[in-house]
Amino acid sequence: MTLKKEPFGKSPQGKGIDRYTLANSRGLSASVMSLGATLMTVVMPDRSGSPSPVTIAFDTPEEYEKKHIYAGSTVGRFANRIGHGSFSLDGKKYTLACNDHGNHLHGGIVGFDRVLWKAEGFEEPGRVGVRMSSTSRDGEEGYPGTLRVTVTFSLTEENELGIEYDAVTDAPTPVNLTNHAYWNLAGAGSGTVEAHVLQLACPRYLPGTDVGMPTGEVRSVAGTAMDFTAPKPIGRDIAQVQGGYDHCYIRGETGRALECIATASDHGSGRRMEVWTTMPAIHLYTGNFLGGTLSSSGRPYPKHGAFCLETEFYPDCVNHPDFPSCILRPGQSYHHVTRHVFSVVSPESP
Ligand code: BGC
Repeated sequence: MTLKKEPFGKSPQGKGIDRYTLANSRGLSASVMSLGATLMTVVMPDRSGSPSPVTIAFDTPEEYEKKHIYAGSTVGRFANRIGHGSFSLDGKKYTLACNDHGNHLHGGIVGFDRVLWKAEGFEEPGRVGVRMSSTSRDGEEGYPGTLRVTVTFSLTEENELGIEYDAVTDAPTPVNLTNHAYWNLAGAGSGTVEAHVLQLACPRYLPGTDVGMPTGEVRSVAGTAMDFTAPKPIGRDIAQVQGGYDHCYIRGETGRALECIATASDHGSGRRMEVWTTMPAIHLYTGNFLGGTLSSSGRPYPKHGAFCLETEFYPDCVNHPDFPSCILRPGQSYHHVTRHVFSVVSPESP
């Protein structure tokens, strides 16, 4: 396995960005940059050994800044939406920066995706990686408490790309961290992901309003277009879902064990990815607003040209006491593990 560090231009504040590339001997590699603790290009061989990038990534920091689709970024302090950006905690009301139809989305105007993280590469027996750390100050985007966050990306010979999130705080605060990689296992920019076969170990989901806020109901997927409990092409029922999938799916059991929550495969290339997580939910977003975003080579990505699988607490959980709590208190530690496990499948497999 190898670990390479190189400069990747400058942040909008003129500070140097570093890009780390983790690679194993099986042809799998992942690069991660310190701006936004961002997972950039993941390269994976197909069934015949031919490598392709399978994530949307850009060639310059300026494109990340301007396009702002959260491509591969670490998202926080709270990934997903908080209604009207407001919530009460221990009897005190907090108002956050609103950046999405009057709601708070993905950490606000200057979320963790726009911050330059401190990065340190490491090589250990069995894995290579990079540890990113950042401090979010008390009051940033309206959040209470100073939060110290570490995100560790690592790659093994077993084709496991791990993302581990750790955080501590000095005052009670909501914390919900995720990664926003856009995947297309047929090759980034190769068309839509509608033929990808997806399975989610999630019997329930959160219905949303027309601006994506959960209504509060937790509904069964059974017998509906939302059902991915058995493997199904992403495109099979997508026309029945207004705009495409942009929903939080809830894991089958309530524990926090590390389990496989999602499996996606592209039968043309044979590439398959499992997502394992300790989080209670996963947000499926099928790139509904991606249409027209230009790649670095100037070609537009189509609508549904990629999917995101964001492991998370439920959106707006701060305003729903019956949803699992995302509140972190002093003396506690936030620890969340998500693992992407890559393999290839034969043309005959389901
Ligand atoms: C959200 C979408 C949003 C997108 C922004 C997703 O996680 O669910 O509604 O448009 O992020 O890139």
